[in-house]
Amino acid sequence: MICKDCGKEIGHEQHLASTESLGVALCERHSKLIKKIILNNNTPVEAIHLFYALKEAGAHPMLEWWDGKKSVDLAISRVKLNIEIDKDYDTITHEQAISDLEEAMHSFKNGFTTIRIPHLAIKYYLEDTVQNILGIIDGLKANIKVI
Ligand SMILES: [Zn+2]
Repeated sequence: MICKDCGKEIGHEQHLASTESLGVALCERHSKLIKKIILNNNTPVEAIHLFYALKEAGAHPMLEWWDGKKSVDLAISRVKLNIEIDKDYDTITHEQAISDLEEAMHSFKNGFTTIRIPHLAIKYYLEDTVQNILGIIDGLKANIKVI
């Protein structure tokens, strides 16, 4: 068993502890690091799962990336893609809805694309979610080349 982040060998207990609390096999150091990120940013655990799945797929994601104004759950910087995980899709308020749209507008103006992914998609269809994001990355890459 190895840490999904650094590839370091981890013991059975550490494997159990990290998969139980975070859903990902991580060494002690990386478990602590991720837990700190979650505490500081209120990061949904689905963002952690997606982060490691994208990393495995070779997409070079960044977790809780600071875009100058706020922290974005995940970002793929070379194609300027921001990914936000929607935690409570059903309980979104109208203020939140318009502020999300405004944020999306500002990031578009700065050349960033923001996509919002419901946490349920990650929970139940992680592989499909990763494939779709890889497709979006390819599309953005193609557009960057055209410009
Ligand atoms: Zn590690």
